[in-house]
Amino acid sequence: MAKVILKNIGKIYGKNVEAVKNFNLTIEDKEFVVFVGPSGCGKSTTLRMIAGLEEISSGELYIGDKLVNDVQPMDRDIAMVFQNYALYPHMSVFDNMAFALTLRKVPKDEIKRRVLQAAEILDITEYLERKPKELSGGQRQRVAIGRAIVREPQVFLMDEPLSNLDAKLRNSMRAELISLRKRLNTTFVYVTHDQTEAMTLGDRIVVMKDGLIQQIGTPQEVFNFP
Ligand code: ADP
Ligand code: ADP
Repeated sequence: MAKVILKNIGKIYGKNVEAVKNFNLTIEDKEFVVFVGPSGCGKSTTLRMIAGLEEISSGELYIGDKLVNDVQPMDRDIAMVFQNYALYPHMSVFDNMAFALTLRKVPKDEIKRRVLQAAEILDITEYLERKPKELSGGQRQRVAIGRAIVREPQVFLMDEPLSNLDAKLRNSMRAELISLRKRLNTTFVYVTHDQTEAMTLGDRIVVMKDGLIQQIGTPQEVFNFP
């Protein structure tokens, strides 16, 4: 069963900024798809439409086999990780990770189980009582990923999750994402302008330009390496 289907999706900001045009893509269950392309080509807008953070101007979006055009972000089977982490500054790491589950009225012991498990996977157990400002950039990014993991979504959406990290940390987090993906065995839609990230993470690469899909293929096909 296909997990995410974008059928002729379009986005117009205001009266005439056509950010995304005729976007057609079927993302398979457990596939890792990467959107690449120059700044302003429509990558984030497309991801945010899948997340429900941006209204869809035209077309149909399916997650699972459900039409979700009018479904609120909270009720979509997705979790998103942002470039700037978007952690709640006044909450502890534990509460940051637990918050979305609390809103959804998940029982307390189940919340605790999921947060502790995600913290263990991400190696942040010893920071659970700290506030985000007491963490390094890499630790904050782990918390942001942990917050997505505890939701146990069918689809992970990631918008340049590593671009605020220095080069060394970016390399190690990239390797961690690869093992995380194996461990979670779920669908990822990932936005980046980093070719190495796209090549090493993606099953398929979607190259965008001026709001249009320019090319879709495996990393080998798109980046022309043997
Ligand atoms: P990126 O290139 O990493 O996607 P941008 O700098 O284009 O980041 O956008 C950052 C934020 O500003 C996003 O939330 C985007 O929706 C918003 N944004 C981008 N362009 C405009 C614009 N022309 N008018 C209003 N908001 C914009
Ligand atoms: P990318 O993620 O590839 O950098 P975006 O999806 O952020 O591209 O932006 C695509 C186009 O839409 C750009 O021309 C950008 O300026 C415009 N845009 C993005 N967000 C907004 C917004 N909130 N309001 C108006 N224009 C926007």
